[in-house]
Amino acid sequence: MTAEKVDITIIGGGPTGLYGLFYAGMRGVSARVIDVLPELGGQLTALYPEKDVYDVAGFPRVLAKDLARDLVTQAMQFEADVCLEERVIELNPGDDGFDLRTDEGVRPTGTVVIAGGKGAFKSRTLAVPGWDELWRKGIATHVKDPESLRGRRVLIVGGGDSAFDWSWALRDIAGELTHIHRSDRFRAHERTVEQVMGATERGQIELLTFQAVQEIHGDERVEAVTIAHTKTKETRRLEVDEVLALIGFVPNIGPIAEWGLDLEGNAIRVDTRMRTNIPGVYAAGDIATYEGKLELISTGFGEAAIAVNNAVHYLDPSAKVDPGHSTSSKAFK
Ligand SMILES: Cc1cc2nc3c(=O)[nH]c(=O)nc-3n(C[C@H](O)[C@H](O)[C@H](O)COP(=O)(O)OP(=O)(O)OC[C@H]3O[C@@H](n4cnc5c(N)ncnc54)[C@H](O)[C@@H]3O)c2cc1C
Repeated sequence: MTAEKVDITIIGGGPTGLYGLFYAGMRGVSARVIDVLPELGGQLTALYPEKDVYDVAGFPRVLAKDLARDLVTQAMQFEADVCLEERVIELNPGDDGFDLRTDEGVRPTGTVVIAGGKGAFKSRTLAVPGWDELWRKGIATHVKDPESLRGRRVLIVGGGDSAFDWSWALRDIAGELTHIHRSDRFRAHERTVEQVMGATERGQIELLTFQAVQEIHGDERVEAVTIAHTKTKETRRLEVDEVLALIGFVPNIGPIAEWGLDLEGNAIRVDTRMRTNIPGVYAAGDIATYEGKLELISTGFGEAAIAVNNAVHYLDPSAKVDPGHSTSSKAFK
């Protein structure tokens, strides 16, 4: 499938990419954002949604997931093409720009802003017998539609925010809900842990600590799992229909490293205009590096503004790099 060509494609829907998307809209160019995750927000939503952030200008304190939500609202004031669960694999020269090949097809674009953070996030998996054979046949690493789990016997694996958020959210939806974690130390927000503990006391959830999945059983679909105590090694068989392994993500710069960009470790070298060594390709946020670089949300915002405004000028040299002040921008009239 070849999609419609846009002026700017932003690879990565984290805070940097979202702020870049807003700037593209404010400058009146067509834009697309592509992220491999099912949700926008990058590290904010994938790694620490329930953590407070204290160093974003204008917010004395903000929950990471709330910051992501407001960045999405700000960016979506303008029309943009949002492609989720799609990984950009290749950057190829195209007709007056580039053809980005993703696992869904070809996405033509005039310019590219790479805001890929630490790389494309990949869900962690369990290295246990049955995982590969029954993947997507009752095994998942994120919840797309909670209603599809109504009345089902669900096993949640994990001790972080995602596992606890879903444990709480599914307590009245799942037919039976078991939640296991390999220790008794949880990384999730205290309040959600308390809520899940409360639901456990009321018999809505069975929360088991020091337990790990040893094997997943089933012919066509998941039918049961064997779990083992991480200390005593004692095993137990649980009859379940669905296994939700919510055990986090691993970032991987992956294909971006093969695009002929000037790299320093896993980061892309840029100049003061956020230009890479490939004309028309910019980088911003955690993935961009230069002398004195700080990997922070606030620096990503500034770099996104510089990258997108320079991309606008690259597309049309008569357009100024300087966007002017938003208070007098035509975009908001
Ligand atoms: C626990 C923790 C706490 C933190 N606390 C703070 C804090 O208090 N203050 C602060 O300023 N910073 C904090 N940070 C750092 C901050 O989260 C990062 O600096 C910020 O997220 C970088 O934003 P980004 O948009 O550049 O990258 P990311 O947020 O990493 O987003 C990049 C996105 O690009 C996508 N992507 C990458 N490659 C591809 C590809 N090939 N195809 C499709 N999609 C792709 C990824 O899936 C990801 O969603 C914290 C980080 C962590 C882990």
